[in-house]
Amino acid sequence: MNPAKRYEMFVRFRAANPKPETELEYTTPFELLIAVLLSAQATDVGVNKATRKLYPVANTPQAMLDLGEEELKTYIQTIGLYKTKAKNVMSTCRMLVELHGGEVPRDRASLEALPGVGRKTANVVMNTAFGEPTMAVDTHIFRVANRTGLAPGKNVDIVEQKLLKFVPKEFLQDAHHWLILHGRYTCKARKPECWNCMQRDLCDYRSKTPAPDGV
Ligand code: SF4
Repeated sequence: MNPAKRYEMFVRFRAANPKPETELEYTTPFELLIAVLLSAQATDVGVNKATRKLYPVANTPQAMLDLGEEELKTYIQTIGLYKTKAKNVMSTCRMLVELHGGEVPRDRASLEALPGVGRKTANVVMNTAFGEPTMAVDTHIFRVANRTGLAPGKNVDIVEQKLLKFVPKEFLQDAHHWLILHGRYTCKARKPECWNCMQRDLCDYRSKTPAPDGV
């Protein structure tokens, strides 16, 4: 995909959705961090359902420690891998209290040192809570970047680097939300809705899905 097409792609994303946001519900950086940590291999809808009950009871690291691991599990047991996640949430809260005064750190190294927090989670928190132009490449972004030709790459690290290089600066802050939403609702994994896609004429994907009968 050439630079003019890339630019036009983001102009269209912005026109359709000027202020894209994560679908995870949160009100503080800590709530976002825990929601992202819980969302690995789970849906945002499932995580929101759990955190809507959990956060009124515990939405600070100290409150989470006071709640305790066993009690935390009762709130998140509908989420996949909840036992491991409960352990990680507790260890993370302990580190936040002991090393960061109960606050979520803003820098990548400190975030990635937290149990259960990898590069992707750190990128989401840095971008969404602190406004850094990072690119958290998840399965949706990886697929969209490759299919469209926007930033093709064999693994998420290559795609992340290419997106950081190729996405025009003015769109970088919001790009990851637009690409996730596009992958989730239009450029779907099994059957992309190409007939319904605003990027159709810009996209390099050769096997575009034809419109179903009657559309
Ligand atoms: S045209 Fe199809 S493959 Fe290309 S971005 Fe749209 S939905 Fe995805």
